[in-house]
Amino acid sequence: MMKRFDPVDHDDFGYDCMGFMAETELGDWVSYEDAEAEIEALKDKIETITKQRDRMYDDMLLWRGIDRDGGDTPCKACSGAGVRAYGDTATWRGGIGGQVITNDICDKCWGSGKAKKPWLNLRRLSRQQRKDRSIHRLKRNQA
Ligand SMILES: [Zn+2]
Repeated sequence: MMKRFDPVDHDDFGYDCMGFMAETELGDWVSYEDAEAEIEALKDKIETITKQRDRMYDDMLLWRGIDRDGGDTPCKACSGAGVRAYGDTATWRGGIGGQVITNDICDKCWGSGKAKKPWLNLRRLSRQQRKDRSIHRLKRNQA
């Protein structure tokens, strides 16, 4: 990030200083003290922005009814969105899929966004419906 520069002949660069110099990303030469102060200021800025981001995330979770302060844990798979991106068009249904990343309901929380309170498991429901239809067909054929 910063290049250390030990000025041997300051006159070549038009500087008149005794200390070490550092080159910023913009190509400016500054004293190490100034560079370190800038680094500390940037660290403070990162901390501030990180806190703002976390507050925004909490606000978005609250909009979905997920209250982290109230003990809710957002689903790890979808981060609480209830929707996730699947690598193919098969999504949570499985089977043969195309080569398109597809958004669909999260197959961990089933849309609730909460890790410990999933909504109706559509995969299990789908399996049960197929089973019920098979039984119905068998009974109809026997009659
Ligand atoms: Zn989820």
